[in-house]
This record gives sequence, structure tokens and C-alpha cells, in this order.
Amino acid sequence: MKILLVCKSKKMENLGCMYLKSVIQFNSENECRIVSLDEAMYVGINWEPQIIGYSIMTGDEKKFHRFNQELQMNYFAAHKKMPTSIVGAQDPTFFPEGYEWADIIIPGEAEQALADLLHTGKVYGDIDSIPWPARDDFPKVEGKLDIRDFIASRGCPYNKCKYCFNARWKEMFPEQARLRIRDYKDVVAEIKFVNPEYAYFQDSCFGVHPKWFEDFCQLYSKEVGIPYQCHMRPEQVSMDKAKLLAKSNCVAIKIALESSVERLRQLVGRGSMQLQEVINAITCLHLCGVKVALQNIIGLPTASIEDDLETLRFNIEVRPDYAWVSIYVPYPGTALGDMCKEKGWYKGNYEDITDSFFDKSVLEFPEEHKEQLYCLQKIFALCVETNYLPKPEELTLNNLPKLVHRVMRNLGDKRLYG
Ligand code: SF4
Repeated sequence: MKILLVCKSKKMENLGCMYLKSVIQFNSENECRIVSLDEAMYVGINWEPQIIGYSIMTGDEKKFHRFNQELQMNYFAAHKKMPTSIVGAQDPTFFPEGYEWADIIIPGEAEQALADLLHTGKVYGDIDSIPWPARDDFPKVEGKLDIRDFIASRGCPYNKCKYCFNARWKEMFPEQARLRIRDYKDVVAEIKFVNPEYAYFQDSCFGVHPKWFEDFCQLYSKEVGIPYQCHMRPEQVSMDKAKLLAKSNCVAIKIALESSVERLRQLVGRGSMQLQEVINAITCLHLCGVKVALQNIIGLPTASIEDDLETLRFNIEVRPDYAWVSIYVPYPGTALGDMCKEKGWYKGNYEDITDSFFDKSVLEFPEEHKEQLYCLQKIFALCVETNYLPKPEELTLNNLPKLVHRVMRNLGDKRLYG
């Protein structure tokens, strides 16, 4: 059987689809290809798959729906029959009611459901029984650093952040352990086999269990040693851990602050995290030579522009290597997204939610405030880089080019005059 898996873009590896491809091809009679939405019409008509599976994130449902309508028409015109359409990944899992157009909806992790549907006879008992992802649809691009994605664990032990889908996932799939960790030897063997130039761990929180982390770092240094990057909570980072990270060639870490305003951290379910823990984590990582990307969210419900400038000020103080910032999106199905609806902070019908974290805020803020947020998001990292804390009134679209100039002059002056 031929199965076509369609993801929005192939600019980066899609681990979900790659894992499914391995599961599908466990039965040697099955063939599977992973394509982007741009390639999918041509391949869908000419390769003539019997099944078309769509991997859909929130914000993309309409795009995929329109595509499937067109594909079914063209497919029927060419072959006088229709392929079966399957939808899966985050959006169909949380909002299946939007997918009457699909023949089959697979909620949650799809490996076992797909294996059953295709009668491969395989039972995936635990996380280590799932085969390594099939990467052949994502060949190395000449002249580009060969960065490959890996995942050593699924789930999140914290599970409390109200803007994240993890808590809802846990409610929907209570039988799944909150955190499932692969055998570290298998993770290292996979990376050794793939042999990329740089490894990126997609885990929500990498290396949560100290013994696992120590064993992993030791074996990774010995057997692989290529540079890697991962995500950790600030609370996870100690001096000992930072040393292990550095020794195993972890060159950069993403850690989430979200907001330096305690009231807002309480609102989003990160109240237990103290600013001192963020400072300590960055200090330990920097002392060991590991770079830090600090993740922030501006435009949270009830946040004033002064609150968000305070978060910027904190970033300037702690000096991450990159200050990543998004504008809050009230994703339906998350605790905070649903609270936004209840409290009237968001009055839309979710049609204005795109798959970008960098668009204009969709919350019920005054237009002037939305413009300030939009400008602040664009200039945030540059301000951190140059130690420039703008005034609220500087954050207008008209003023943005002047602001960039001022920020850069500030940097120039510092370099020239100290
Ligand atoms: S935001 Fe991160 S730490 Fe919080 S629940 Fe989600 S995955 Fe876990």
C-alpha cells in the first residue's frame, strides 16, 4: 500500500511524520513518502497513494481542508476513485470536531493506531519499542549545516504551564506516564547512526533524571561528541549539570522565563519558578561556556506594556546569548486560552489565530497597545543585544525605523566610547 504523509513544510525535519514512516514501512509491502503541502498535489496525483495522512498544527486546519478538497477532486478526475484521508497531530487531537472532512482522525501519538490500521501486527509496548524515525525524505542539503532532530523523551514532568498543551494531553491520555524516557544507549546509538553535524533535542525538558543524564553525557562524549542543543527548565540547571552539558559538547540551551513579572508567571502556571533560579541557571551555563537562548512571552492577558518592558529589562540584566520572544496566542484547549474566552480577554472565533507566534496580538487590547507589542517583539532581541530599554511611547510602527537607528547608535557609542 502507498501512503503519503503531508506536513506543512519540509524546511525542518518533522519527527512525528518520520516516526510514522518507520512504523508504516515495518510491513515491507507498504511504501511511504513524506512531502510538504507545496509538493503534495503533484505527488498525490502522480504517485497515486491509497492513503493520504495530514499532520496538522493549530492555525493550519483551513489550509489543509482546502487542500484536501482540491486534491480529492483532482485525484478523482485522474483515477476515478478517492484516497482515504487521515488527520493527526496536535490540532485534530484537541479539536476533532473541525475535521468532519477527514475519513479517519487519529488523536494523540499515532504509531500504534497506524500500525493497527495497516495490520502490521506490531505492538509498541513502550517508548523503546518504537523504531527510529525514517529520515530519507529529509536529505542533507549541500552547503548547509546538517542539523538533525532527536527526541530522548516524550511528555513533560512539570505539566502545569497554562499556555501549553501538555496538561490537556495528560487529561486526554491518562494511561500514558507523564514522562517517558528512552534508553540512553539507544538515543546515543541513533545519533551515531544518523551522524549529523549538529543534534537538536526536541524534548520538552531534556535530561530530567540525574542518573540518566549523567550516563547519557558520558556515553555521548565517548561515542558521538558532536555539538548539540536542548531545552531545560531553569530549575533543572545546576553547576554540576552545566559542567556535564559542557563536557558532552552541549553548545546551547533554551530555557523559558516567559515573564519576569511574578503576577504574570503566577497567571500562566509558572509561579513556582523564581527569578533567582533563572539567574543561577544562566550564570552556571555561561561559566561553563554553554550559550543560552532565553524564551519570553509578551502580550500575556492583563500584562501592561510596562510589564513587558520589565521583562525586557530583566533580559538586559541577565544577558542571554539570544532573547527569543513571542506574542501570546490564546490557543483553545489550553487552560489559559480557555480562561481568555471566559474572562472576555479574547472575543474572536479562533479564525484570527495563525501558526505564528510573532503576529499582532489577538487579545482585547486597545489598538495602540497591540502596536506597541508588535514593535516590541520585533526589536526585543536587538534591545537586549545593545542594552537599550525603550520608552512605551517609542513603540509605534511609524517610529520603528528611528528606534532601530537609535538602538544601533547606542551600541555604536558604547563600543566607541566605552
Ligand atoms: S511549557 Fe514546557 S515545562 Fe511547561 S508544561 Fe509545557 S512542556 Fe512542560
